[in-house]
Amino acid sequence: MNDRLQQTGGEVRLYVESALRADIRIAAAEGQAHYLLHVMRARVGRRIRLFNGRDGEWLAGIAEVGKHRCIFECLNRIRAQSASPDIWLCFAPIKKTPADYLAQKATELGVAVLQPVITRRTVVTRVNTERLRANAIEAAEQSDRLTVPEVREPVALHSLLAGWPTERLLIFCDEAGDGLPLAQALRKSNSKSWTVLTGPEGGFDPVERDAIRAHPSVVPVSLGPRILRADTAALGALSVFQAIAGDWS
Ligand code: SAM
Repeated sequence: MNDRLQQTGGEVRLYVESALRADIRIAAAEGQAHYLLHVMRARVGRRIRLFNGRDGEWLAGIAEVGKHRCIFECLNRIRAQSASPDIWLCFAPIKKTPADYLAQKATELGVAVLQPVITRRTVVTRVNTERLRANAIEAAEQSDRLTVPEVREPVALHSLLAGWPTERLLIFCDEAGDGLPLAQALRKSNSKSWTVLTGPEGGFDPVERDAIRAHPSVVPVSLGPRILRADTAALGALSVFQAIAGDWS
């Protein structure tokens, strides 16, 4: 059982789907109850922190326990809900690095949406989005985020481009190297919504590169002189984004 309940400053922090307000009682999900009761040996009265991506973070107490169930009671809000930078990651899943790892790290780096993209050279065609979401929740709990990224079903590159929201900047990580340095492209942009797009192990094929570059919302960028693995490129681009245009500055 993954350690879905994260110790953050002495308290367990949990993501729940339900609304959060004073005195509301919430039943722990099955995995959460098992872990709290049988691994953490938590008992009635134990304090935990709850968030749902909408109502901020709340202090709660374990109000009731059973063999396989645990009921929380919300006490008071300890953090107001705050907005995070509007950054998405569109990535061609790769074989060597499980998408789980990318989902965890991209969540820690603050992405709002994880969108697997199937390109002509994408070797991995089946993506377990339920697993990705479970990894994203675990990383959100651990990293003190107040939101959990939305994990979308895989989409073909041409469909992604065809339905692209024109106001959203699409930062195309193009290993051909003739794009602007990423930091320079970010400094030049006054966009309020961004996306990083990275390709598979074999890169984008020439037809795909032309189609991506022809899109009006696309800015081709370089991530330096070395060819990075797809996961390195995605996480590196997200880090530069947060430092230049996100919430690290
Ligand atoms: N075509 C590459 C080659 O020649 O070996 C392989 C693709 S690379 C392993 C995977 C993806 O990471 C690329 O499609 C691109 O999105 C991104 N990437 C890697 N290095 C990059 C760089 N220096 N600049 C921009 N993007 C890069």
